[in-house]
Amino acid sequence: MKDLRNMTKSQIVEAIEQIGEKAFRGKQIFEWVMQKGVSDFDQMTNLPKSLIEKLKQEFTIDNYKIVEQLVSGDGTIKALGALEDGNLVESVFMTYKHGNSACISTQVGCKMGCAFCASTLGGIVRNLTVGEYLGQIYALQNLTGKRIDNIVLMGSGEPLDNYEETVKFLKRVTDTEGLNISIRSITVSTCGLVPEIYKLADEHLGITLAISLHNPFETERIEIMPITKRYGIVELLKAVDYYIAKTGRRVTFEYALIEGINDSVAHAEQLGRLLKGKLVHVNLIPVNAVKEKGFKPTQNNRINGFKSQLVDKYKINTTVRRELGSDINAACGQLRNSRLEANQS
Ligand code: SAH
Repeated sequence: MKDLRNMTKSQIVEAIEQIGEKAFRGKQIFEWVMQKGVSDFDQMTNLPKSLIEKLKQEFTIDNYKIVEQLVSGDGTIKALGALEDGNLVESVFMTYKHGNSACISTQVGCKMGCAFCASTLGGIVRNLTVGEYLGQIYALQNLTGKRIDNIVLMGSGEPLDNYEETVKFLKRVTDTEGLNISIRSITVSTCGLVPEIYKLADEHLGITLAISLHNPFETERIEIMPITKRYGIVELLKAVDYYIAKTGRRVTFEYALIEGINDSVAHAEQLGRLLKGKLVHVNLIPVNAVKEKGFKPTQNNRINGFKSQLVDKYKINTTVRRELGSDINAACGQLRNSRLEANQS
């Protein structure tokens, strides 16, 4: 069975012709799948019943079925969805003044091994396909009845470790004949895969790049983010400079504040020195506690002190991310982990 969400318009038309149908039927199907985001063939009301039956034998659409959802008082919805092979990944719907955002996963599990992250606890299972990236967006739109305006690739997985599908996704999701989402409204977040940052810069896509830094000291960053052994902080910042020079886009630095680990004045000072004068923005996020890891978030007054250092002394544009959905307090991967644990016991 072929996943229609995984196919381009010309691939759909070709496949439809191969089953003996006219090309315009392929275009109609493309519109149902990619523009209207249907999850069921029976919703394709301008197709003959016989064709719908034929399609059901050859193709699938509904590649991400939401099996559990946590709804927060502020409108955030954390969804856990099943892929066609039964693997589970999370996606999140958030609503802001400037529109609706989807946070989607790029891999089942993750192999990057960040110490504070729940997605990496069981290692990597597999990469998601571009159709499965898109499937998460359609499922969230269908669930809420609202259009997604912004997308962040910040669910489980490392988007630049699944580089080809990630770039395909960026092209497909911005297609004016498909979902037609503005490229400027998409953020790709990475723990720092340096060669792929250079590659991405050369693609000239106009997305926002976010770097998960979380510690400005090399030896300490190695402890919480093993990728640092492969690509050190100096090398990473050089790649970021290249990205900025090539694209003219401001880069976001993500910094999850963990009590007693990376939240001292010395950390703020070093972060300030590293980023001073660059076209960057720092996002401070109190870490989401992960019970398996024992990390606690930094207290608010300390977060404000950390921010003041960066803003006042180093003139770095800094925001504290207001955690949406804090009452459903579920960091990346936690929902999936609790489901996997429940299945084992
Ligand atoms: N692999 C990519 C994207 C997925 S993680 C990356 O590393 O950027 C998305 C963001 O959530 C990253 O900034 C990651 O470091 C952060 N994150 C992971 N676990 C977290 C936690 N428990 N609390 C706060 N942020 C967390």
